[in-house]
Amino acid sequence: AKEAGRRNYIFFDKNMNDIIVRKMKIQNSMKKAMENNEFSLHYQPQYEIASNRIRAFEALLRWNSPEHGFVSPADFIGIAESSGLIVPLGEWVLNEACDFIKHVIDMGHENISISVNVSVIQLMQEDFLSMVDGVLKNKGLKPSYLELEITESVLIENIDLNMKKIKELRELGVKISLDDFGTGYSSLTYLRELPIDVLKIDKSFIDNILSTGEKSGLAGSIISLAHDLGLEVVAEGVENEEQLKYLEWYNCDVVQGYLFSRPLPGEKAMKLIP
Ligand code: C2E
Ligand code: CA
Ligand code: CA
Ligand code: CA
Repeated sequence: AKEAGRRNYIFFDKNMNDIIVRKMKIQNSMKKAMENNEFSLHYQPQYEIASNRIRAFEALLRWNSPEHGFVSPADFIGIAESSGLIVPLGEWVLNEACDFIKHVIDMGHENISISVNVSVIQLMQEDFLSMVDGVLKNKGLKPSYLELEITESVLIENIDLNMKKIKELRELGVKISLDDFGTGYSSLTYLRELPIDVLKIDKSFIDNILSTGEKSGLAGSIISLAHDLGLEVVAEGVENEEQLKYLEWYNCDVVQGYLFSRPLPGEKAMKLIP
């Protein structure tokens, strides 16, 4: 038993070492990745339940590295945040996403907006507001076509400053969506005060919707609460019909997930628009 324990320990240790080495390698190759055009965006549609219409696409970052293959954003966003690379990378994402939606609008589709994930590191930059304003002006895109998704937990961390920043963005005409709602502690305390337009229920609550179709679970309560506060509600990670039925029953506004479409390259995403 002692032997096994020791072997386990060594195995764990080696694993940790591998993880750290990989992190460092990723950090190094990310620096070159931007110059080498290794990043791209995929777009996932968000459907309005009532009209069955695409109300927006969420832009999701993809990295195809010659060295590491396809790296998941879950594995590199954190590294980009701690190295500061998220600032220029996030600006690139915004430009690329705005180009995409401009193209959609120019094709004659009017009521579709673009949803872009924003790291709190970006939000904290002094010139974030003017950067966003500049990109929109440069593309000739009305601010109402842009929605910024900000993760709940990080938003709450520096609440006063972040609230001020978000108010300024909204004054510009940009919509704000609270991402991963329900995963942080203080959600309910702050929700009433947050100057936001959209609430995205975290996937974990959608996963918990019972496949029996039973109308219990927290997602329904979150939808009612959000509607009481006048917020539009988006459910992310919808994968099956049972979840959709449940969300319809609770009058959820918008659904997004593999049941409808995976995130797709721009050309393919555009083909989803009738
Ligand atoms: P997120 O913003 O919560 O995005 C939702 C994630 O769930 C995406 O993963 C999406 O591909 C995935 N997803 C969508 N529908 C389903 C489904 O039905 N089932 C399952 N299992 N997954 C689904 P992805 O693209 O790997 O992104 C992971 C996270 O990385 C994002 O979570 C977001 O926090 C971050 N991220 C992605 N792109 C960007 C970016 O441009 N900027 C920043 N700051 N973060 C980004
Ligand atoms: Ca998101
Ligand atoms: Ca999310
Ligand atoms: Ca998430």
